[in-house]
Amino acid sequence: MSILLNADLHCHSVVSDGTLTPEALAARAHANGVALWALTDHDEIGGQHRAAAAAHALGMDYLTGTEISVTFADTTVHIVGLGFDPDNAQLAQGLAATRGGRSERAQEMAQQLAHVGISGAFEGALRYAGNPELVSRTHFARFLVETGVCHDTSEVFRRFLTEGNPGYVPHRWATLGNAVRWIREAGGMAVIAHPARYRFTANEEYALFSEFKQHGGQGVEVVTGSHTPSEYPVYAAMAQEFGMAASRGSDFHSPNESHTDLGALPDLPGQLTPVWELLSDRILRAPRTTAG
Ligand code: AMP
Ligand code: MN
Ligand code: MN
Ligand code: MN
Repeated sequence: MSILLNADLHCHSVVSDGTLTPEALAARAHANGVALWALTDHDEIGGQHRAAAAAHALGMDYLTGTEISVTFADTTVHIVGLGFDPDNAQLAQGLAATRGGRSERAQEMAQQLAHVGISGAFEGALRYAGNPELVSRTHFARFLVETGVCHDTSEVFRRFLTEGNPGYVPHRWATLGNAVRWIREAGGMAVIAHPARYRFTANEEYALFSEFKQHGGQGVEVVTGSHTPSEYPVYAAMAQEFGMAASRGSDFHSPNESHTDLGALPDLPGQLTPVWELLSDRILRAPRTTAG
Protein backbone atom coordinates (compact mmCIF):
# COMPACT_ATOMS: atom_id res chain seq x y z
CA MET A 1 0.00 0.00 0.00
CA SER A 2 1.29 3.39 -1.00
CA ILE A 3 2.39 6.09 1.42
CA LEU A 4 -0.09 8.31 -0.47
CA LEU A 5 -3.06 6.27 0.76
CA ASN A 6 -5.83 8.36 2.31
CA ALA A 7 -5.61 6.68 5.72
CA ASP A 8 -7.22 8.27 8.79
CA LEU A 9 -6.12 6.36 11.87
CA HIS A 10 -7.31 8.59 14.73
CA CYS A 11 -10.85 9.75 15.59
CA HIS A 12 -13.50 9.52 18.31
CA SER A 13 -17.15 8.43 18.47
CA VAL A 14 -19.90 8.64 21.12
CA VAL A 15 -18.25 5.56 22.68
CA SER A 16 -15.75 8.10 24.13
CA ASP A 17 -15.81 11.88 23.60
CA GLY A 18 -16.88 12.26 19.97
CA THR A 19 -20.37 13.39 18.98
CA LEU A 20 -21.00 10.98 16.06
CA THR A 21 -21.78 7.27 16.11
CA PRO A 22 -19.24 4.83 14.63
CA GLU A 23 -21.59 4.42 11.64
CA ALA A 24 -21.86 8.19 11.03
CA LEU A 25 -18.06 8.53 11.28
CA ALA A 26 -17.60 5.71 8.75
CA ALA A 27 -19.97 7.46 6.33
CA ARG A 28 -18.20 10.78 6.79
CA ALA A 29 -14.74 9.23 6.33
CA HIS A 30 -15.90 7.44 3.19
CA ALA A 31 -17.49 10.63 1.78
CA ASN A 32 -14.15 12.40 2.35
CA GLY A 33 -12.24 9.75 0.38
CA VAL A 34 -10.73 7.75 3.24
CA ALA A 35 -9.61 4.28 2.04
CA LEU A 36 -8.23 2.93 5.34
CA TRP A 37 -9.89 3.96 8.58
CA ALA A 38 -9.48 3.34 12.33
CA LEU A 39 -11.79 4.44 15.15
CA THR A 40 -9.62 5.19 18.22
CA ASP A 41 -11.90 5.90 21.18
CA HIS A 42 -10.21 6.91 24.45
CA ASP A 43 -9.61 3.90 26.74
CA GLU A 44 -12.41 1.94 25.02
CA ILE A 45 -12.78 -0.66 22.29
CA GLY A 46 -16.56 -1.04 22.63
CA GLY A 47 -17.17 0.45 19.17
CA GLN A 48 -14.72 -1.71 17.22
CA HIS A 49 -17.03 -4.34 15.75
CA ARG A 50 -19.59 -1.70 14.73
CA ALA A 51 -16.89 0.46 13.14
CA ALA A 52 -15.39 -2.43 11.15
CA ALA A 53 -18.83 -3.52 9.92
CA ALA A 54 -19.74 0.03 8.89
CA ALA A 55 -16.41 0.48 7.10
CA HIS A 56 -16.80 -2.79 5.21
CA ALA A 57 -20.38 -1.96 4.17
CA LEU A 58 -18.93 1.14 2.47
CA GLY A 59 -15.96 -0.67 0.91
CA MET A 60 -13.37 0.85 3.29
CA ASP A 61 -10.52 -1.15 4.79
CA TYR A 62 -10.34 -1.04 8.58
CA LEU A 63 -7.72 -1.22 11.36
CA THR A 64 -8.88 -1.71 14.95
CA GLY A 65 -7.96 1.22 17.18
CA THR A 66 -7.91 2.81 20.61
CA GLU A 67 -6.18 5.75 22.34
CA ILE A 68 -4.87 4.89 25.80
CA SER A 69 -4.37 7.57 28.50
CA VAL A 70 -0.93 7.18 30.09
CA THR A 71 0.87 9.11 32.84
CA PHE A 72 4.50 9.76 31.90
CA ALA A 73 6.76 12.33 33.60
CA ASP A 74 3.72 13.62 35.52
CA THR A 75 2.04 14.41 32.19
CA THR A 76 -0.88 12.78 30.42
CA VAL A 77 0.39 11.16 27.22
CA HIS A 78 -1.80 9.37 24.68
CA ILE A 79 -0.76 6.09 23.06
CA VAL A 80 -2.72 4.92 20.04
CA GLY A 81 -3.05 1.18 19.47
CA LEU A 82 -3.74 -0.12 15.96
CA GLY A 83 -4.42 -3.55 14.48
CA PHE A 84 -4.98 -5.49 17.74
CA ASP A 85 -7.45 -8.31 18.31
CA PRO A 86 -10.62 -6.47 19.51
CA ASP A 87 -11.61 -9.49 21.62
CA ASN A 88 -8.31 -9.72 23.55
CA ALA A 89 -9.14 -10.13 27.26
CA GLN A 90 -5.97 -8.53 28.69
CA LEU A 91 -6.42 -5.40 26.59
CA ALA A 92 -10.09 -5.15 27.61
CA GLN A 93 -9.15 -5.51 31.30
CA GLY A 94 -6.36 -2.96 31.06
CA LEU A 95 -8.65 -0.44 29.41
CA ALA A 96 -11.40 -1.06 32.00
CA ALA A 97 -8.86 -0.35 34.77
CA THR A 98 -7.71 2.81 32.96
CA ARG A 99 -11.33 4.02 32.68
CA GLY A 100 -11.88 3.45 36.41
CA GLY A 101 -11.89 6.56 38.56
CA ARG A 102 -13.27 8.87 35.87
CA SER A 103 -16.56 9.25 37.71
CA GLU A 104 -14.89 10.29 41.00
CA ARG A 105 -12.60 12.63 39.08
CA ALA A 106 -15.63 14.17 37.35
CA GLN A 107 -17.31 14.78 40.72
CA GLU A 108 -14.18 16.57 41.99
CA MET A 109 -14.04 18.62 38.81
CA ALA A 110 -17.68 19.63 39.33
CA GLN A 111 -16.98 20.59 42.97
CA GLN A 112 -14.18 22.91 41.86
CA LEU A 113 -16.44 24.47 39.23
CA ALA A 114 -19.17 24.93 41.86
CA HIS A 115 -16.65 26.95 43.92
CA VAL A 116 -16.36 29.43 41.05
CA GLY A 117 -20.13 29.67 40.66
CA ILE A 118 -20.81 27.01 38.02
CA SER A 119 -23.33 24.55 39.43
CA GLY A 120 -24.65 21.27 38.08
CA ALA A 121 -21.55 20.50 35.99
CA PHE A 122 -21.39 16.79 36.92
CA GLU A 123 -24.95 16.10 35.77
CA GLY A 124 -24.44 18.50 32.86
CA ALA A 125 -21.32 16.72 31.62
CA LEU A 126 -22.94 13.31 32.03
CA ARG A 127 -25.76 14.35 29.70
CA TYR A 128 -23.15 14.62 26.91
CA ALA A 129 -21.42 11.34 27.72
CA GLY A 130 -22.70 8.58 25.46
CA ASN A 131 -20.69 6.20 27.66
CA PRO A 132 -20.88 7.22 31.36
CA GLU A 133 -17.70 5.22 32.13
CA LEU A 134 -15.87 7.57 29.82
CA VAL A 135 -17.02 10.94 31.21
CA SER A 136 -14.22 13.27 30.12
CA ARG A 137 -13.15 16.90 30.13
CA THR A 138 -14.64 17.18 26.64
CA HIS A 139 -18.12 16.54 28.06
CA PHE A 140 -17.58 19.26 30.69
CA ALA A 141 -16.41 21.57 27.91
CA ARG A 142 -19.64 20.98 25.97
CA PHE A 143 -21.68 21.72 29.09
CA LEU A 144 -19.77 24.99 29.68
CA VAL A 145 -20.43 26.06 26.09
CA GLU A 146 -24.11 25.05 26.25
CA THR A 147 -24.64 27.10 29.42
CA GLY A 148 -22.97 30.16 27.87
CA VAL A 149 -19.99 30.23 30.27
CA CYS A 150 -17.65 30.01 27.24
CA HIS A 151 -18.08 30.61 23.50
CA ASP A 152 -16.34 27.44 22.36
CA THR A 153 -14.46 24.44 23.70
CA SER A 154 -11.02 25.95 23.12
CA GLU A 155 -11.99 28.86 25.39
CA VAL A 156 -13.05 26.27 27.99
CA PHE A 157 -9.62 24.62 27.93
CA ARG A 158 -7.92 28.03 28.21
CA ARG A 159 -9.96 29.08 31.25
CA PHE A 160 -10.99 25.83 32.94
CA LEU A 161 -10.13 22.11 33.27
CA THR A 162 -6.39 22.60 32.65
CA GLU A 163 -3.51 22.86 35.11
CA GLY A 164 -3.74 26.03 37.21
CA ASN A 165 -7.40 26.61 36.31
CA PRO A 166 -10.68 25.73 38.07
CA GLY A 167 -11.90 22.21 37.33
CA TYR A 168 -8.45 20.66 36.90
CA VAL A 169 -8.06 17.38 38.78
CA PRO A 170 -4.78 15.52 38.22
CA HIS A 171 -5.25 11.86 37.47
CA ARG A 172 -3.07 8.74 37.40
CA TRP A 173 -3.64 6.87 34.13
CA ALA A 174 -1.98 3.68 32.82
CA THR A 175 1.81 3.31 32.75
CA LEU A 176 3.61 3.62 29.41
CA GLY A 177 4.92 0.06 29.72
CA ASN A 178 1.50 -1.44 30.40
CA ALA A 179 -0.24 0.45 27.58
CA VAL A 180 2.37 -0.66 25.03
CA ARG A 181 2.31 -4.23 26.35
CA TRP A 182 -1.51 -4.54 26.23
CA ILE A 183 -1.50 -3.38 22.61
CA ARG A 184 1.42 -5.56 21.52
CA GLU A 185 0.25 -8.70 23.28
CA ALA A 186 -3.12 -8.26 21.55
CA GLY A 187 -1.26 -8.36 18.23
CA GLY A 188 -1.25 -4.61 17.57
CA MET A 189 1.17 -1.73 17.11
CA ALA A 190 1.64 1.11 19.61
CA VAL A 191 1.94 4.67 18.28
CA ILE A 192 2.75 7.89 20.18
CA ALA A 193 -0.21 10.23 19.61
CA HIS A 194 0.30 13.95 18.80
CA PRO A 195 3.74 14.32 20.53
CA ALA A 196 3.86 18.12 20.16
CA ARG A 197 0.82 18.47 22.44
CA TYR A 198 2.75 17.47 25.58
CA ARG A 199 4.99 20.54 25.62
CA PHE A 200 7.87 18.38 26.90
CA THR A 201 11.42 19.66 27.18
CA ALA A 202 13.85 18.08 24.70
CA ASN A 203 15.09 15.75 27.45
CA GLU A 204 11.60 14.62 28.48
CA GLU A 205 10.62 14.04 24.85
CA TYR A 206 13.79 12.02 24.25
CA ALA A 207 12.96 9.93 27.34
CA LEU A 208 9.41 9.33 26.08
CA PHE A 209 10.59 8.18 22.64
CA SER A 210 13.39 5.98 23.95
CA GLU A 211 11.36 4.34 26.74
CA PHE A 212 8.46 3.84 24.33
CA LYS A 213 10.82 2.04 21.93
CA GLN A 214 12.31 -0.08 24.72
CA HIS A 215 8.80 -1.24 25.62
CA GLY A 216 8.26 -2.28 21.98
CA GLY A 217 6.46 0.81 20.63
CA GLN A 218 6.90 1.20 16.88
CA GLY A 219 5.11 4.28 15.57
CA VAL A 220 4.55 8.03 15.97
CA GLU A 221 1.88 10.34 14.60
CA VAL A 222 3.54 12.69 12.13
CA VAL A 223 0.57 14.18 10.28
CA THR A 224 -2.21 14.80 12.80
CA GLY A 225 -5.08 17.26 13.20
CA SER A 226 -3.68 17.92 16.68
CA HIS A 227 -0.44 19.44 15.29
CA THR A 228 0.19 22.55 13.25
CA PRO A 229 1.69 21.94 9.77
CA SER A 230 5.01 23.39 10.98
CA GLU A 231 5.21 20.51 13.50
CA TYR A 232 4.93 17.78 10.80
CA PRO A 233 8.60 17.96 9.68
CA VAL A 234 9.78 18.02 13.31
CA TYR A 235 8.18 14.64 14.01
CA ALA A 236 9.04 13.27 10.57
CA ALA A 237 12.68 13.81 11.62
CA MET A 238 12.00 12.18 15.02
CA ALA A 239 10.46 9.14 13.28
CA GLN A 240 13.60 8.77 11.19
CA GLU A 241 15.97 9.35 14.11
CA PHE A 242 14.22 6.70 16.21
CA GLY A 243 13.54 4.30 13.34
CA MET A 244 9.80 4.51 13.88
CA ALA A 245 6.89 4.14 11.46
CA ALA A 246 4.71 7.20 10.82
CA SER A 247 0.96 7.52 11.32
CA ARG A 248 -1.66 9.93 9.98
CA GLY A 249 -4.97 10.84 11.60
CA SER A 250 -7.37 13.75 12.00
CA ASP A 251 -8.21 13.27 15.73
CA PHE A 252 -11.74 14.23 14.61
CA HIS A 253 -14.26 14.56 17.48
CA SER A 254 -17.20 16.58 16.17
CA PRO A 255 -18.33 18.55 13.10
CA ASN A 256 -18.82 21.60 15.36
CA GLU A 257 -15.54 21.42 17.27
CA SER A 258 -12.86 19.83 15.10
CA HIS A 259 -10.99 21.98 12.61
CA THR A 260 -9.55 18.95 10.77
CA ASP A 261 -12.18 16.78 9.12
CA LEU A 262 -11.82 13.03 8.62
CA GLY A 263 -9.32 12.30 5.84
CA ALA A 264 -8.61 16.01 5.23
CA LEU A 265 -4.87 15.94 5.92
CA PRO A 266 -1.68 16.31 3.89
CA ASP A 267 0.09 13.10 2.86
CA LEU A 268 2.92 11.71 5.01
CA PRO A 269 6.37 12.92 3.92
CA GLY A 270 7.62 10.43 1.31
CA GLN A 271 10.80 9.24 3.05
CA LEU A 272 8.88 7.67 5.97
CA THR A 273 7.52 4.16 6.49
CA PRO A 274 3.74 4.39 6.99
CA VAL A 275 2.31 2.34 9.87
CA TRP A 276 -0.06 0.64 7.40
CA GLU A 277 2.93 -0.92 5.64
CA LEU A 278 3.98 -2.75 8.84
CA LEU A 279 0.33 -3.55 9.67
CA SER A 280 -0.65 -4.88 6.26
CA ASP A 281 -1.56 -8.34 7.60
CA ARG A 282 -3.64 -6.75 10.41
CA ILE A 283 -5.86 -4.74 8.04
CA LEU A 284 -9.45 -5.99 7.95
CA ARG A 285 -10.06 -5.71 4.20
CA ALA A 286 -13.42 -4.74 2.79
CA PRO A 287 -15.00 -7.50 0.74
CA ARG A 288 -14.17 -6.68 -2.90
CA THR A 289 -16.82 -7.10 -5.54
CA THR A 290 -14.68 -7.97 -8.54
CA ALA A 291 -16.08 -8.46 -12.01
CA GLY A 292 -14.38 -11.26 -13.98
P1 AMP B 1 -9.72 13.62 29.61
O1 AMP B 1 -9.37 12.28 29.03
O2 AMP B 1 -10.99 13.58 30.40
O3 AMP B 1 -8.60 14.26 30.37
O4 AMP B 1 -10.07 14.58 28.39
C1 AMP B 1 -9.12 14.77 27.38
C2 AMP B 1 -9.80 15.27 26.13
O5 AMP B 1 -10.08 16.66 26.23
C3 AMP B 1 -8.91 15.15 24.91
O6 AMP B 1 -9.01 13.86 24.35
C4 AMP B 1 -9.47 16.20 23.99
O7 AMP B 1 -10.59 15.68 23.30
C5 AMP B 1 -9.96 17.26 24.95
N1 AMP B 1 -8.98 18.36 25.08
C6 AMP B 1 -7.91 18.42 25.89
N2 AMP B 1 -7.27 19.60 25.75
C7 AMP B 1 -7.96 20.30 24.82
C8 AMP B 1 -7.82 21.59 24.23
N3 AMP B 1 -6.83 22.43 24.59
N4 AMP B 1 -8.73 21.97 23.31
C9 AMP B 1 -9.75 21.15 22.96
N5 AMP B 1 -9.93 19.92 23.47
C10 AMP B 1 -9.05 19.50 24.40
MN1 MN C 1 -10.73 13.48 23.07
MN1 MN D 1 -5.25 12.51 22.33
MN1 MN E 1 -7.67 11.60 20.16
